[in-house]
Amino acid sequence: MADTTGTGANEAILRAAGLRITRQRRVILDILQQAAEAHPDAAEIHARAVDIDPRISLATVYRTMRALEESGAIQRHAFEGGPARFEHADADHHDHLIDLDTGEVIEFKSDRIEAIQEEIAARLGYEIVHHRLELYGRKVK
Ligand SMILES: [Zn+2]
Repeated sequence: MADTTGTGANEAILRAAGLRITRQRRVILDILQQAAEAHPDAAEIHARAVDIDPRISLATVYRTMRALEESGAIQRHAFEGGPARFEHADADHHDHLIDLDTGEVIEFKSDRIEAIQEEIAARLGYEIVHHRLELYGRKVK
């Protein structure tokens, strides 16, 4: 069953971004919303998109991802050692830990880290507009 709430919200996001609402854009935004914490790459998004609409090509996915990223509707992550990964921009702010052995992307949030970053920026005379924090690690055995 299609998530109509998500689709409606995604249409509003496209409208707010000044993007024409196309079926491809809606399909891709819906996929990213449903993927939640999965951070799929373009090939994974394409595989899911084809299940919904077999006419969507990988080139279309790349083109659509670029437009959505430029509009701020999605976030692109260039994690080390892998393809670009994407997530819906309406996710609550969080940081990422990347497992170097499996490539798994784990989300976390720390109020302490957020506070320390604010403190450092203020000390340097800045206010933070946005930030990204990536930890790369191996699971302790
Ligand atoms: Zn994330």
